[in-house]
Amino acid sequence: MPDLRVGVLGGTFDPIHHGHLAAASEVRAALDLDRVLLVPTAAQPFKDAHGHAPVEHRLAMCRRAVAEDPYLEVSTVDIDRGGTTYTVDTLADLQSQQPEARLFFIAGADALARLSEWRDADRLLELATFVAVTRPGHVMTDSSGAFAVVEAPALDVSSTDVRRRVGEGRPIRYLVPHAVADYIEEHDLYSGGRDD
Ligand code: ATP
Ligand code: MG
Repeated sequence: MPDLRVGVLGGTFDPIHHGHLAAASEVRAALDLDRVLLVPTAAQPFKDAHGHAPVEHRLAMCRRAVAEDPYLEVSTVDIDRGGTTYTVDTLADLQSQQPEARLFFIAGADALARLSEWRDADRLLELATFVAVTRPGHVMTDSSGAFAVVEAPALDVSSTDVRRRVGEGRPIRYLVPHAVADYIEEHDLYSGGRDD
């Protein structure tokens, strides 16, 4: 059986937005991946207390966002494990769930900038091929050649912006999928207006 090529995009997804989806989609096509898993982090009590959405909402929004894209799926591997999310655990758990998969860990330039400080940095590079996606406002600093680099569509949107906009009563349509905007309205998320 040929190996499955599986992308992994971890994040808080608070909320998921078109920057995440465009990056996942671009990498999937560029590297001919069979699918990309979006992996929301587990609950972080400290964050939840400050205008962040509880894990069940972050997860529900991810599920709505990927519903119509056959290449994108949501994995609860980090939520199921709980506690602080370390990428090394994410990748090890996904690899044991899918032994036949070759994993590609996708992250924006901002997230990868401090990779050397991540837990078990050496092992990480054995567990997955790292893929850096460009992100507006962040310079790609890697010169080691350790990452594949994929130029993503430059969508200058962040979850922080989306939360702030909701708090200020400004629109978020076209920054997030309609199903996510609807969900935020239905559940009155982020309307406290604090962004961290
Ligand atoms: P926050 O503002 O709360 O930090 P965020 O928009 O950065 O949220 P995260 O959940 O922190 O979203 O990001 C998950 C992953 O997606 C990270 O690797 C991040 O670099 C990447 N990412 C987020 N937004 C974009 C974007 N617009 N373009 C490319 N990559 C992105
Ligand atoms: Mg971020």
